[in-house]
Amino acid sequence: MRLVLLGLPGAGKGTQGERIAAEYSIPHISTGSIIRSVIASKSSLGMEVNGYISKGNLIPDHLAVDIVRERLVQDDCQGGWILDGYPRTVKQAENLDAALQREAMALDLAFDIRISEPEAIGRIAQRRMCRQCGITYHLTYYRTQVEGICDRCGGELYRRADDTESTARQRLKVYMLQTHPVVHYYAQSGRLYSVDGDRPIDDVFQDVKEVLANLQSIPCVGS
Ligand code: ADP
Ligand code: ZN
Repeated sequence: MRLVLLGLPGAGKGTQGERIAAEYSIPHISTGSIIRSVIASKSSLGMEVNGYISKGNLIPDHLAVDIVRERLVQDDCQGGWILDGYPRTVKQAENLDAALQREAMALDLAFDIRISEPEAIGRIAQRRMCRQCGITYHLTYYRTQVEGICDRCGGELYRRADDTESTARQRLKVYMLQTHPVVHYYAQSGRLYSVDGDRPIDDVFQDVKEVLANLQSIPCVGS
């Protein structure tokens, strides 16, 4: 199963991606978290990338393409994957299709998780991440048992540097301008499923699972 998750920052791509990964035993590949670890490494690439990310902008297509290409050739990707945060431009989407085609593979489906802009801003402000395992929490909707400590691994929670309101507003603007067209790109080829993300996490996941169950019953999918 090869899937892409689209939606405004804060829509729940990371949250649903983790659940899909656990349910179907395929890797959840968040280009955002790969990029954040490149930044944390303080390499020259990290510094370059941080210049874009800290302002709420996208990194250039060629860098994003390289990061994804390197990840998708790893062994755990043989049985499929969920891409979260990529493609973010139509050029990246075309590039992904071309790369898959060269390997006689295809993307099965793109999910568009839909929420309103005010909801996105609100969620980003309350998002907290685990420093150790990267899982995402929310101060109101998805709380940890002990404040500030990850339920899964005991790691410390932190707020992403780009999760401020002003950076979030810029990211929403960039999404509408550069990434929203990707929704149409997949819709035109009949590979888009829109899901209402403005509901509790479990309800959204229920929807996603139903769609994926139907996908799996089509014999050619996942080959
Ligand atoms: P994205 O990866 O699309 O930027 P996240 O998965 O990080 O979004 O979710 C953004 C924030 O909203 C997180 O704090 C997450 O816990 C919370 N969240 C995700 N989905 C929902 C939902 N359906 N209802 C309420 N909060 C949610
Ligand atoms: Zn953790």
